[in-house]
Amino acid sequence: MVAAVCLQNVHKVYNGTLVVNDLSLTIKAGEIFGLLGPNGAGKSTTIRMVTTLTQASQGTIVVAGYDVSRQPLEVRRQIGVVLQQTSVDGDLTVWENMELHGRMHHLRPSERQQGIETWLQYVELSDRRHDRVKTLSGGMKRRLQIARALLHQPQVLFLDEPTVGLDPQTRRRLWEIIQRLNQQGITILLTTHYMEEVEYLCDRIGILDQGRLIAMGTLEELRQRHGEGIAMTQRGDRWDYRFFPTLALANAYLEDQPDKTGMMVRPSNLEDIFVELTGRNLD
Ligand code: ADP
Repeated sequence: MVAAVCLQNVHKVYNGTLVVNDLSLTIKAGEIFGLLGPNGAGKSTTIRMVTTLTQASQGTIVVAGYDVSRQPLEVRRQIGVVLQQTSVDGDLTVWENMELHGRMHHLRPSERQQGIETWLQYVELSDRRHDRVKTLSGGMKRRLQIARALLHQPQVLFLDEPTVGLDPQTRRRLWEIIQRLNQQGITILLTTHYMEEVEYLCDRIGILDQGRLIAMGTLEELRQRHGEGIAMTQRGDRWDYRFFPTLALANAYLEDQPDKTGMMVRPSNLEDIFVELTGRNLD
């Protein structure tokens, strides 16, 4: 399998502070890879380095076979980017925003018109094509950003916190769009601090904390590594957690306890693993 994105020993220093610390990871073509971590972990900085928006202080990054520092223009042709801050122009219409992007990417007029039609339909914004973007809801703006990022037919799509600030229903709708894109062969790297987002969408997950990759694998691999079952005991206003290799073993432990007051057993999740590794919560 060809690597879509490859980072090797990547560091980023801002004002003397190491915000990305020796990050190495490979994203395979066709994967949805999720970078999960709390605020300030270095997720956006990683996306910005991989998408040529800021240079790594050290290390190499290759995207779709091109080196980001030596071949940034080639990289930009291969990627679509949706950043956190809404970068669409509110005073232009939906169509004009798409048109502008198409022109910037030097798409031929016929190709541009066709692409805009196709992608607006895909994200269900065709009927809003003549509306100014400032009249759209947050979810619609995000869908427009995705349509725009796809107009020049990128191989890899980068989504920085794609559903932050959206209501659960809108979030789910975006998840479906992202999943369908991936089924069409687009490789996706997304960042998020929503555990459910990676659980729902991602083939593999990297957990980032204070600039360091502290765990990586499929959800199942991570759960197997740290324990699939959790026994929780309430002590005052906090819970003590104990990992077990399987849920059955966690249940057996509970059964053995003479006093089961304040105890419960459940399958482990990513938040548990993050807390186990860092001693802190994701939020
Ligand atoms: P995340 O996306 O995981 O929330 P960021 O990559 O945005 O994390 O930030 C990681 C760290 O880098 C933070 O401490 C942030 O303050 C710092 N940082 C990000 N961008 C800049 C910048 N342009 N200048 C200085 N520090 C920055």
